[in-house]
Amino acid sequence: MADPKKDIVLEGIPASPGIVIGPCFLYQYRRMEPEPRRIPDKHIKKELRNFRQSIENARNYIQESYEKARLQYGGEIPRILEIQLEILNDRVFLDEIEQLIQTEKFNAAYATFLVFSSKKEQLLKVPDDYMRERALDVANLKWLVLENLMGGRQPIVLNKPAIVVADDLSPADTVNLHQQKVLGIATNKGGINSHTVIIARALSVPAVVGLERITDFVQPGHKLVLDGSHGTVIVNPSSKTVQKYQKRRNLFLSLEEALIKESTKESRTRDGRRIFILANIEFENEIKQVKKVGADGIGLFRTEGIYINRHILPSEEEQTQIYLKVAREMYPKPVTIRTIDIGGDKIFPHIFVGQEPNPFLGYRAIRFCLDHADCFISQLRAMLRANVKGNVQVMIPMVSSLEEVYQVKELFEKAKAELRQEGIPFGENTPLGIMVEIPSVVTMADEFAREVDFFSIGTNDLVQYTLAVDRSNEHVAYLYSHFHPAVLRLIKDAVDAARAANIPVSMCGEMAGDPVAVPVLIAMGLDTLSAAHVMIPEMKKVVRQLTVAECEAIYEEIRHLKTTKEIKRTLETFFSEKFKDVFFE
Ligand code: PEP
Ligand code: MG
Repeated sequence: MADPKKDIVLEGIPASPGIVIGPCFLYQYRRMEPEPRRIPDKHIKKELRNFRQSIENARNYIQESYEKARLQYGGEIPRILEIQLEILNDRVFLDEIEQLIQTEKFNAAYATFLVFSSKKEQLLKVPDDYMRERALDVANLKWLVLENLMGGRQPIVLNKPAIVVADDLSPADTVNLHQQKVLGIATNKGGINSHTVIIARALSVPAVVGLERITDFVQPGHKLVLDGSHGTVIVNPSSKTVQKYQKRRNLFLSLEEALIKESTKESRTRDGRRIFILANIEFENEIKQVKKVGADGIGLFRTEGIYINRHILPSEEEQTQIYLKVAREMYPKPVTIRTIDIGGDKIFPHIFVGQEPNPFLGYRAIRFCLDHADCFISQLRAMLRANVKGNVQVMIPMVSSLEEVYQVKELFEKAKAELRQEGIPFGENTPLGIMVEIPSVVTMADEFAREVDFFSIGTNDLVQYTLAVDRSNEHVAYLYSHFHPAVLRLIKDAVDAARAANIPVSMCGEMAGDPVAVPVLIAMGLDTLSAAHVMIPEMKKVVRQLTVAECEAIYEEIRHLKTTKEIKRTLETFFSEKFKDVFFE
């Protein structure tokens, strides 16, 4: 493995801010040890075929990583992969496994496990550091081959605080991890606004995603430095690097603390315009942090957190209690609760089992809910029941057509009629609004604005659906930007349509929490922005340093620019000049 004194610096996508230093926990899927089985003679050929195929798949995977590493990093990293390829091409070694399948009639997974494990043990006994490092390579390869042979995914269990490194993590994995001792997250895959990342931000877990090959370069226990603000992970840092990052971490924490202290004050621009800064939450227990940073309400309560990692659906009563608690805790501040946005990258096997070729264009959110009216009505009833004090509003995600709005309104009225008939108290005048996150809604925004009580602009999806860029795919992450001129025009159109129809409009996509975007959003006429609580102190600070005239001037400058690059550069220059002494660099 790598020279322990040399830093291996990997650059990915900065996903959740903060700096952490700690040991690596390498999460390899399907790490279950295979059971020994004797296979009947007639299945031996098939078992051999499976074995050869999994070796082939593992070889292809390593070869691909090797090519990338050679071009990108050079030095030690491609060499490690080269050695792994040599092991996978070692005929004597592979023959040993095939022999076990043919003569002992062991299942391929078990034979692989036995031979790889004994090879690892042999190497560990050699009194040579280099050979012992190779033992770890063999262990890594063992799991790579077994992953091909066996199905099933193991839950992650951390025994001590660690930075979790994985190919990818699902939103459910991330939640599981937070309940343990996770210090930070680093993944090969992922885009800046995948739901996994949004959850990491909500849980204040520093994260770097889109690192592409980090799992090839680390071993369990390796020391790592992870800088989620800049998207950097350093493997095997030297003591000088560790010291440097300790200092940066302390600086980050003290600036954060100072910002949080100031954050309880309301946010007005220097010339007096009130900008309401609300919080997006995933879980009801985020309320403590939300209050600490002085949020003006909850602009988006994503209710999927209630459905995640469970085996049965939550009952209406259970949901009512959760929503009531949030509504009460925040009262008199507003709370917008969103009906479930299942699908896309949030798959809950107990509710819907099915593979879709294009999940983000598929059976997601309101499409699922309208197809499961009972489940939908029970959620609507719980939300209505939570609105006894009048500070709750209900929001529908992924609306793409007016027909959906008509159907939702019908079911909303049905839920109310049921509650009325049953004599259960609820908020008669609960506002019903929609997420504006699909371009078709912006195109017909005037019509939608006549039908609903409010708009909330969801840029995470608006960007992905406008630009045809999967929000969670690291290969196209360079195309994903809320500063694309087409996206900016759509946002302005949505705001104008809401204004013309006299309905409230806010933004709850991650763009709202991007300090560089804040001046533009103010200039467009938005006065309500909602973002992860970790972003709020910074957003408030930005608002307080700006005047509306300044915002309008910078918006006027970028409004005519034709490329994302020019817009981003202009805004970043404005931002860094204006805020050069204020923020952590
Ligand atoms: C959005 O799409 O901008 C949004 C806020 O919703 P989500 O990220 O949950 O899809
Ligand atoms: Mg969305």
